[in-house]
Amino acid sequence: MNCVKMRRAVQSGLTALIACATAGALMMPRSFPLAAPLAATPHQIAVTFDDLPYVSGPAEVGTTKRQSARMAEQAIVAALTENHVPATGFVNEDKVEALGADGVSLIAQWNRGDLSLGNHGYSHFDSNALSIAEIERYILRGEQHIRPLAEAVGRRVAFFRFPYNHIGETPERRRAIDAMLARHGYTLAASTIDSEDYLFNTAYECAFATQDVAAQNTIKQAYLDYTYTEIPYYQALNQQVMGHDVPAILLLHANRLNASALPDILAFLKTRGYRFLSLGQAQADKAFSTPVGPSRYGPMWGYRWARTLGIPVNGTLEQEPPAWVGAYCTTHQTP
Ligand SMILES: [Zn+2]
Repeated sequence: MNCVKMRRAVQSGLTALIACATAGALMMPRSFPLAAPLAATPHQIAVTFDDLPYVSGPAEVGTTKRQSARMAEQAIVAALTENHVPATGFVNEDKVEALGADGVSLIAQWNRGDLSLGNHGYSHFDSNALSIAEIERYILRGEQHIRPLAEAVGRRVAFFRFPYNHIGETPERRRAIDAMLARHGYTLAASTIDSEDYLFNTAYECAFATQDVAAQNTIKQAYLDYTYTEIPYYQALNQQVMGHDVPAILLLHANRLNASALPDILAFLKTRGYRFLSLGQAQADKAFSTPVGPSRYGPMWGYRWARTLGIPVNGTLEQEPPAWVGAYCTTHQTP
């Protein structure tokens, strides 16, 4: 668990043996040869994308923004379909509206074959700051485009994922949120692997803005290295907490970095012997019937399960992203 995640976990009352990794440890290279042996029993994973149709770069507007969104979306959807990977894409309705007709056509790509639409709210709201009635309104306004799209092809939008994974910070609000989701036919979407792609993407966007291709490649490789560390970390954490090999749920964002990095991530998962599941198949595992408790923060489900079950977990085993990635935009400001 990195220091930021760790603080979140500790403040939310998780039982954890904690100490941030040392600076020296953070600088250690982490590489996983693609020739690593396949696991005897394949791990399973569901791939999910949040913030569809696209997480725009800070300086992008108008035509540039629509072009970037189209290119990223096409690359992500192509990587998934070419590799026969089912995935759920969680949509923010206001991001659809911001892209106009392009926004609707981009999310329509997630409504066919092995790709499914999920609801991520009208906007990227923070549920901690809202009443249950207000949260409900944000969820229902989030259905504006995704619901008719799904229903037109005989599907329904089955999952809601909370922005920031803020699923209720008190037991009372957890219960009220679960009841409200159930009233509207939603299953709460879980997340078990956080690769902090948003942090790497922020740096990647700054390198893109200055047309620094070498820096983009360096940032992408750092992101891949970190992701290749986080995937087995969370697999082991969930195995320790739940006592069996829990299907993983990878949380990614629809951004420029993943448009470039996704083929590498999928190749890594294949080489490590992962079998790809839909989100519904993954959450059918008995682990996901374990209650997830309240938190002001957004820890992954393994940490939440550890708290529910009173199982100590060693958060020191989770590494942080390199500090230079978080600082990149500050240290490489455009003149
Ligand atoms: Zn989000």
